[in-house]
Amino acid sequence: MITPEFEYTAPRSLDKAIRDLSGGGEDAKLLAGGHSLIPLMKLRLAAPTLLVDLRNVPGLHGIQRENGHWRIGAMTHHTELERTTELGLAAQAAGTIADRQVRNRGTIGGSLAHGDPASDLPAVMLAYGAEVTVQGQSGQRRVAAADLFQNYMETDLAPDEVLTEVRLPALDGYGFGYEKFSRRSEDWAMVAVSALVRAEGGQCADVRVGLTNMGSVPLRASAVEEALRGRPLDAASIAAAAEQAAEGTDPPADLNASEDYKRHLARVLTKRALETAAGMGGA
Ligand SMILES: Cc1cc2nc3c(=O)[nH]c(=O)nc-3n(C[C@H](O)[C@H](O)[C@H](O)COP(=O)(O)OP(=O)(O)OC[C@H]3O[C@@H](n4cnc5c(N)ncnc54)[C@H](O)[C@@H]3O)c2cc1C
Repeated sequence: MITPEFEYTAPRSLDKAIRDLSGGGEDAKLLAGGHSLIPLMKLRLAAPTLLVDLRNVPGLHGIQRENGHWRIGAMTHHTELERTTELGLAAQAAGTIADRQVRNRGTIGGSLAHGDPASDLPAVMLAYGAEVTVQGQSGQRRVAAADLFQNYMETDLAPDEVLTEVRLPALDGYGFGYEKFSRRSEDWAMVAVSALVRAEGGQCADVRVGLTNMGSVPLRASAVEEALRGRPLDAASIAAAAEQAAEGTDPPADLNASEDYKRHLARVLTKRALETAAGMGGA
């Protein structure tokens, strides 16, 4: 399928990109890797009349560690995340996205701004407690990942705002596990679970669990976290906590999985991800 006709700009500064985006009104869209937007345009599910390509905007690429945080430019490709193994969970999850071609083009900023609850990175960012920096005509602001995802493919970003950077706490000393279940390798997740665990003297000092494709937005498995935090970090406590994984979720049924099957997957994958994060080697 061929996309509808559109105008195209590739500005060389962030200010110009924001001006172009605002000038285009509701029919203007930013273009990053194009691996979500262009397919939607080809299917005629989106028909922007202006695409503002971020490829030439300086300062939006790269990964740097600074004061206990990772700063990741919005135009950083999934492949770069995957290769930065010091990132831990985020690198592992990025390496499960689709195939090499998609990972070489798709960006972290595009993935978060798109707000698809079936994407891998949004729930990972929730688990980290990440925040994003956005810039628009009225200035710059920071948005916590917990406030970014508002509804199915709806985010807190205003139409004239560009997501410029993602800030991840480094979470040194945390173990991590990522479990993604798909019908075929390289498919989107039927369900995926991200887990981060910090152990202290055999107890669970902190735990963060993110759920992918278990509702209209990515979710934190708060009931699991409450059940495990402060408990001995052993197989029995993990198994008991993982039983809470589907609490408060509303997973969409699809061709591959019923709601009940997704709830079952959430419990099984949470147990495996927590076991790996706790150094038990997974199931
Ligand atoms: C075959 C295929 C399989 C895939 N499988 C997976 C998968 O398993 N897991 C997964 O997570 N993803 C998957 N994806 C999606 C892929 O990760 C996309 O790259 C990603 O979702 C969007 O990133 P992008 O850079 O391509 O964004 P684009 O498609 O360019 O943009 C997506 C949306 O975000 C907006 N946007 C982009 N950048 C910004 C910004 N900096 N600020 C504000 N708004 C912005 C755009 O205007 C658009 O609305 C798949 C894609 C394809 C084509």
